[in-house]
Amino acid sequence: MPMIRKNLINCKLIFANTSGKFYHSSCMASFCPEDEVCPYCKRKGDCSVHAYYDRYLIDFLNNCVVTSNLKILRVICSCGATHAILPDPIIPYRQYTLFFILAVLCDHFIHLIPIEAVCEKYNISIKTFYRWKDLFHKHRKEWLGLLVSMELDERRSLELLRGTDPFSAFASSFFLQTGISFLQSHKNPAPYPRSCRGSPDFFH
Ligand SMILES: [Zn+2]
Repeated sequence: MPMIRKNLINCKLIFANTSGKFYHSSCMASFCPEDEVCPYCKRKGDCSVHAYYDRYLIDFLNNCVVTSNLKILRVICSCGATHAILPDPIIPYRQYTLFFILAVLCDHFIHLIPIEAVCEKYNISIKTFYRWKDLFHKHRKEWLGLLVSMELDERRSLELLRGTDPFSAFASSFFLQTGISFLQSHKNPAPYPRSCRGSPDFFH
């Protein structure tokens, strides 16, 4: 995978009123490229800082939509592969944080707020709501299996997810099982190293 996911959420913090930017900063403060295992060649200790790119993030904090800009680190391995470093709250290829999307779904399915009111509160379109809902359904089946997902409705599934402790274990196992992150809609590009493909510059 052309990225390395960093599991930072070590408890039931997923719905905490904390920004994705804060989690990213906390994660990067203790990040050491030399401790990483290259997802492409599997070697440990051969990654170094390569570059940074700008990333726009949308959070929901204190009942407000909040935007922020991050600098995402890309490391390069001696094999030539480059990997973006993304903590759990950042969903690849998506500007909205994991917290944001789950808060929207919880407001509707757990707190029973009508869709129109949820969309107004979070300043999203109804189309976006249904896109997230459909993706949640799809990933719910992969996470719980078809039979269990039929038995558990959206509310119970979200409550189960909210109670998952630690959340990082769930995030890691979903990534290993499916090859994508929870609520990520686009597949990751193939992890070819630079030496094979010229200069791939994937943005997440
Ligand atoms: Zn490598």
